[in-house]
Amino acid sequence: MTIKPVVDRKVRLAFGSAIAIMILVGAFAYYCIVVFNENNRWINHTHEVLDNLQELRFLIQSIELSSRDFVMSGDESRLKSYRTSVAQAEDSAAAVTYATRDNPVQQREMPSLAALLAQRSQFAESVIRLRQTQGLDAAVKEVEIARGDRNSDEIYTEIGMMRNEELRLLQRRSADSQWQLDETKTVLLFGTVLGLLITGAAGWSVHRDNSMRALAEEALRAGEEQHRMDLSGVRDYAIFTLDPQGRIMTWNAGAERINGYRAEEIIGQNFSRFFPPEDIARGRPEELLRITAANGRHEENGMRVRKDGSRFVASATITALHDAAGKLRGFSKISRDLSEAKDSEAKYRGLLEAAPDAMVVVNQRGDIVLVNVQAEKRFGYRRDELLGQKVKNIIPEGFAERLIADDARSAAEALAQQIGTGIELSGRRKDGSEFPLELMLSPLESTEGILVTAAIRDISVRKAAERHLAQMEGRYRGLLEAAPDAMVVVDQAGDIVLLNVQAEKQFGYRRDELLGQKVKNIIPEGFAERLVSDGLRSAEDALAQQIGTGIELSGRRKDGSEFPLELMLSPLESTEGILVTAAIRDISVRKAAERHLAQMEGRYRGLLEAAPDAMVVVDQAGDIVLLNVQAEKQFGYRRDELLGQKVTNIIPTGFAERLVSDGLRSAEDALAQQIGTGIELSGRRKDGSEFPLELMLSPLESAEGTLITAAIRDISVRKAAEADLVQNVQDLNRSNQELEQFANIASHDLQEPLRMVASYTQLLSRRYKGKLDSDADEFIAYAVDGASRMQRLIQDLLAYSRVGSKGGNLRDISSDNALQQALQNLRGVIQDSGALVTHDPLPTVMADEIQLIQLFQNLVGNAIKYQKPGVPKVQISAARNGAKKWTFSVKDNGLGIESQYFERIFGMFQRLHKREEFAGTGIGLAICKKIVERHGGRISVESQPGSGSTFRFALAEGERKS
Ligand code: ADP
Repeated sequence: MTIKPVVDRKVRLAFGSAIAIMILVGAFAYYCIVVFNENNRWINHTHEVLDNLQELRFLIQSIELSSRDFVMSGDESRLKSYRTSVAQAEDSAAAVTYATRDNPVQQREMPSLAALLAQRSQFAESVIRLRQTQGLDAAVKEVEIARGDRNSDEIYTEIGMMRNEELRLLQRRSADSQWQLDETKTVLLFGTVLGLLITGAAGWSVHRDNSMRALAEEALRAGEEQHRMDLSGVRDYAIFTLDPQGRIMTWNAGAERINGYRAEEIIGQNFSRFFPPEDIARGRPEELLRITAANGRHEENGMRVRKDGSRFVASATITALHDAAGKLRGFSKISRDLSEAKDSEAKYRGLLEAAPDAMVVVNQRGDIVLVNVQAEKRFGYRRDELLGQKVKNIIPEGFAERLIADDARSAAEALAQQIGTGIELSGRRKDGSEFPLELMLSPLESTEGILVTAAIRDISVRKAAERHLAQMEGRYRGLLEAAPDAMVVVDQAGDIVLLNVQAEKQFGYRRDELLGQKVKNIIPEGFAERLVSDGLRSAEDALAQQIGTGIELSGRRKDGSEFPLELMLSPLESTEGILVTAAIRDISVRKAAERHLAQMEGRYRGLLEAAPDAMVVVDQAGDIVLLNVQAEKQFGYRRDELLGQKVTNIIPTGFAERLVSDGLRSAEDALAQQIGTGIELSGRRKDGSEFPLELMLSPLESAEGTLITAAIRDISVRKAAEADLVQNVQDLNRSNQELEQFANIASHDLQEPLRMVASYTQLLSRRYKGKLDSDADEFIAYAVDGASRMQRLIQDLLAYSRVGSKGGNLRDISSDNALQQALQNLRGVIQDSGALVTHDPLPTVMADEIQLIQLFQNLVGNAIKYQKPGVPKVQISAARNGAKKWTFSVKDNGLGIESQYFERIFGMFQRLHKREEFAGTGIGLAICKKIVERHGGRISVESQPGSGSTFRFALAEGERKS
């Protein structure tokens, strides 16, 4: 199994060295190229120096030739080319010096070459100068003497030496370069060959290893196949393998036999299907794999499910499988059906451990012989602390006793009586605390005789819940009886389980006649049906839909009579399941009232249309709910345009507000304040025009609550008339005032000239009476009479006008005093006529004193004046007239007045008698009327012609008693 890593190592080594060699070869090649390049540069450099030396040599020749030519020919152009050559030779020499600057051998030669060159040019210059100054011959002579050629040869020799040196260098460098090239070639060839060799060797090695592994794997597969064939034949054990996710990979005959699946149908499926649904739900299969993966191996006894759904307890061992690299490859699982186990204890132990409850197996002596892990947990003991101990230690009472035979019965019988029944006892934990438990016993035949298996369940929670509910129920029973409604509690089967005394009364049954009976007996329809679940909903849902809503049904009394009722349902959790409490209210009265109202409403609709006014019925939200045809006309809308609309559309302000309750008053109070009073508001027609209206509100109880009926009257005409009236009164007052002013001013101003006319006519009459003729006396008498009448008239008019303008404030005065003053003023008249004036005690009244005196004076004066012959009698009296009023009467025994003149006499200038009969202006009673009216009263007369008159007027009582 370790072949692969070895192969890997070899391959890695081989390729590693090959690559290392390649890298070395590459580096070396690069180095060689760099060196080669450098050599080449030097070779080129040497060629360059050789070229320079060659050029220098050529230029020396050129100097020689051109200087000689000039000497021979004297041609100045030759002299010019001579100078050019000299300059170039200097440049060339400098170039050589520069190019050989790093070669000490050549540099050593350079000074002598330079010196030779200088000598040469010096000589040439001197010859040229001779040729120019002394002519050809002198110059030739000089040349011959100096042997200039010798110098040139020396220069050539020098250049030749230098050239030789460069050639030597060239040779050496070329040889170096060649060697370098050869060396590079060798190294590259060798390196490549070596790399190829190593790679080849590695390849060969891998190939050899691979064939070895193929052989090994072949062997392994054969082994595994063999193994699998061995396992597949095993029938006692279910043996299968899982991949890391729990999918089944292999399946043996035992697995097929025990689990019921054939290999082809189960391979590839997840092994979780062997677990019961509750284990799957809590993720047990995945958990098992996790535990196994972590620990490598896991054993357990657990409940499993066969293909046919039947269950069995399996004892399973799961092992994690890993590959060579240690990676999880899957699991193998070996399990057996414990129910088949030969060893019954193992089988039993498996069952025991698989049980969800604490299990304790006890022998007939009461000793604990077996426990499961739940029992350890429940009682807080370790297994070894329990085994062999008395069961009384953990269940002090009621268990051990049940195991024991007594005289009356055998042990088996004793036990038989208990089997399967849930026995509630008390358990004691190791720490001494107790808890309620429920025992389920079952016998177990064993070699040691009959053992008893006790399944023990902790029922603390259930017990607490039961206690709670019992309390609840106790309290609830109290509530039930206290309720004002009939209450019936019904279970989901529709049986009455509880009821109160009101329910007895309502339905006319005694309690015991109803308890346990079907609720259908008293509520035949609609209630029991509501408790029942159907395909679409559970009982709880069915009930939930009804809770709290008032359901109107019909109840049936014991005597068979029926009555309408309203049910309110509420659920009540109890130990017997969900119960339903029904509060039952007799709604006969309400129903009757509703019917009545509906009728009322029908009738009311008729009334509405018959009404002459526009009528609108509005609810408390201010919506129009009803209206009549007059309302349609008044506002110019069609009925359907108004119904359901806000009343503010037609009466924008002041109506809707009156319907609304506020913090200070309820809607009813708000309305009550408005009922019956005429409220003047403004209406708006559909065309937008507005008109004044008067509302009369009245409430109308209806099924929808209190509605408000508004009778609406268009008061445009009345409003216009009122406005007119106000205007008229104002006009009248103004003209009255003007008139009074005029009368006042006129009478006042007339008095003065009149007084003059009167005095002088009187003077005339006194002085000239009898001195002129009789006609003159007569005329003067007329003038005097006219003037004095006019004076009286003016005085009366003045008095009249002063009643309105000069009246003092009303105050408490004694009418008795006022009468005395009037009589005082009239005393002359009274004496003359011999009149008898009597009066009752007279009260204090609210009056203007001057005016009251004048009133009495005018009336008493008239009573004395309008008399037949005889003694005039005048009686003044006052009688209380209702609250705070006094009616005065002035009664005479005079001429009397015909009834048709009763009104007229109070007018201005109205007289019933001729001036010749009785003097007067006809203003006196008008003044009386004005005075009385100013005091807020009316004056009237009652009379029979010939038997006297009575004038009456009323005044307000004074605040002070007289
Ligand atoms: P005058 O007395 O100045 O004529 P009045 O206004 O006081 O004016 O009276 C109007 C008229 O009423 C009198 O002219 C008279 O005819 C009639 N009258 C007034 N008082 C009486 C009376 N007591 N009895 C009968 N007639 C009366």
